[in-house]
Amino acid sequence: MSDRFQFSVSATDGRARTGVIQTPRGEIRTPAFMPVGTAATVKAMMPESVRATGADILLGNTYHLMLRPGAERVARLGGLHKFMNWERPILTDSGGFQVMSLSSLRKLTEDGVTFASHIDGSKHFLSPETSMEIQRQLGSDIVMAFDECPALPATDAEVAKSMRMSMRWAQRSRDAFGDRPGHALFGIMQGGVTPELREESAEALKSIGFEGYAIGGLAVGEGQEAMFGVLDYAPGFLPENKPRYLMGVGKPDDIVGAVVRGVDMMDCVLPSRSGRTGQAWTRRGQVNIKNARHADDPRPLDEHCTCPACTGYSRAYLHHVMRAGEMISGMLLTWHNLHYFQELMAGLRAAIAAGTLSDFVAQFEAQRAQGDIEPL
Ligand SMILES: [Zn+2]
Repeated sequence: MSDRFQFSVSATDGRARTGVIQTPRGEIRTPAFMPVGTAATVKAMMPESVRATGADILLGNTYHLMLRPGAERVARLGGLHKFMNWERPILTDSGGFQVMSLSSLRKLTEDGVTFASHIDGSKHFLSPETSMEIQRQLGSDIVMAFDECPALPATDAEVAKSMRMSMRWAQRSRDAFGDRPGHALFGIMQGGVTPELREESAEALKSIGFEGYAIGGLAVGEGQEAMFGVLDYAPGFLPENKPRYLMGVGKPDDIVGAVVRGVDMMDCVLPSRSGRTGQAWTRRGQVNIKNARHADDPRPLDEHCTCPACTGYSRAYLHHVMRAGEMISGMLLTWHNLHYFQELMAGLRAAIAAGTLSDFVAQFEAQRAQGDIEPL
């Protein structure tokens, strides 16, 4: 195991890459999908179960953890890995995105953001310096620079102004992060859907220097076409020898499209959140297990899937427990969804390594086009 943070690409296929990020807490195989453990848990899953699905790394949310239970408390209790019983790598976001999406009474200045907690209305302050300190207290392996996500829709001038402040905050994040061997700080590219602004942002980040680079400001409601439009050129502005992380993505077809365009890391609440509401993702698309068509169906969700939900239970049972509001429904569907997402990543990695990514993508699309299995 490496005592340093380092990334190596082992194969490419078109713009797609596969490789390994080495950290003192273990390897992260890329392209990687990171399940989201918002409040120090991937909801409805034991950490060892998350690992069993194939996850190498989890994401934790600075905003949620700073408010509850508090970063200082987590630090006193031995750090986030020990607290939540996950010994492998953890990436934490900077808190910036959730401050904008969840909190109230926000006041934004060059210094940082003052806001009221969505939980109890208490007042808090986040800045590049406080975000770095909180992420240090949590003990995260990959720390995200503190940035501002402009509210959409925004004019080019607003996007540019916000991006330039985020670049000044990126420098402050770098300065506050300090020298922490084995830990990484990622800068976040902004600039909306304007190539010139994306390039300006990338140049600013590269001149500061980071261990990895995120493509921010996407997957915020702009639609897949606009997102892919940016991904057609933005990864090319970033260094080839550093990981590229697309934040908050996505649906399986978003993931495949992003990997094809050179993205190495992604995270999304989708597999766990939709699992708790009865939405399953399979190679043949999305399935709503609450639908009456499943009530008498003895077949598994996906006959090719090796997860516990598919090997031990019928669609009829999953339908019943979801309709009855039983906890096991969220547990089984979340497991299945995370398993499917990780299997998709493994398939992408293998296809890139073999130079057969276009065949893999064609098969992925053909299977989805079939739709779910016919009702009995
Ligand atoms: Zn399954």
